[in-house]
Amino acid sequence: MDKILIIGACGQLGTELTLKLRELKGTESIIASDLLDDPIDLLSDGPYEKLNIMNKESFHIILEKHNITQVYHLAAVLSAKGEQNPHFAWQLNMESLLTVLEAGKDKLKKIYWPSSIAVFGPDTPKENTPQNTVMAPNTVYGISKLAGERWCEYYFENYGVDVRSLRYPGLIGYKALPGGGTTDYAVDIFHKAIVGEKYECFLSEDTILPMMYMDDAVKATIDLMETDAENVKIRSSHNLGAMSFSPKEITIEIQKHYPDFEVTYNPDFRQKIADSWPGSIDDSAARNDWNWQHSFGLKELTETMITNLKDTIVFD
Ligand code: NAD
Repeated sequence: MDKILIIGACGQLGTELTLKLRELKGTESIIASDLLDDPIDLLSDGPYEKLNIMNKESFHIILEKHNITQVYHLAAVLSAKGEQNPHFAWQLNMESLLTVLEAGKDKLKKIYWPSSIAVFGPDTPKENTPQNTVMAPNTVYGISKLAGERWCEYYFENYGVDVRSLRYPGLIGYKALPGGGTTDYAVDIFHKAIVGEKYECFLSEDTILPMMYMDDAVKATIDLMETDAENVKIRSSHNLGAMSFSPKEITIEIQKHYPDFEVTYNPDFRQKIADSWPGSIDDSAARNDWNWQHSFGLKELTETMITNLKDTIVFD
């Protein structure tokens, strides 16, 4: 039976992916790991290891201790945070991936590593952005993800490492807070609406970006990892899409539930990052090769976020 190590399990994506994998494969098969001494509450009922992935020795000790056969490597510095410390972002995002890929040569059956729409840049066609197109990212995050994609394909081609990857759009979920990306506003805005406060958005009202509800992202990830290797025809990373909207459009959708909700706009350095990214994604390869289908559009996303956050949010 496969034993899976999740690196960065306490983050926005890791929390939900770990919970889903434990539900599907049994709690004891999924070892969560992160920088924290102890896991966050949602993950406290299963195996957990404190791991800084920059420490190769600790990583290998954990692989051996649990007989790990698959790694989901989610730890990274995200787009907005990366611009504040570019050298650190490059170091963490690159070195950690190479550590995991090296382990894939002889110790692991499969690796999952996420890429991002940040691999595209200002010269990329903005609408229905193709799988293969101009890719000249201008953030350190995008540069690291693009280089990471090339390394993944390289390790597959040269060493037969079964590494699989998705270029996520902005991810929106209610179980964990986002960790410093350019699309974080689309989570923050719900928190403000529900507690009855105004929201000041750091992007302009008409900035359209590709987005995805977390359940769809988790499903895509597990579907890709479970499909037969011959269906995985792309070994860099797959375009993946669901919906696109602007801050103004999501505000209108939220106002259907909270008519008095107010949003103001005060774009900051993240506007430039958002302006360099696509508005919509052509993910036909994922849909054709391994039957990717999304379930959530803006209406369903808004209803689900509000229903669930109302029950879990802490009111001051
Ligand atoms: P996050 O910042 O919420 O979580 C990352 C986790 O990694 C955190 O819990 C952090 O403590 C941990 N971590 C950081 N440095 C570490 C280290 N040295 N060793 C071990 N753990 C470490 O990020 P996320 O939103 O969950 O993103 C997960 C992955 O998905 C990242 O690779 C990210 O680039 C990618 N991604 C996310 C989005 C999104 O919208 N959230 C979009 C595209 C791609």
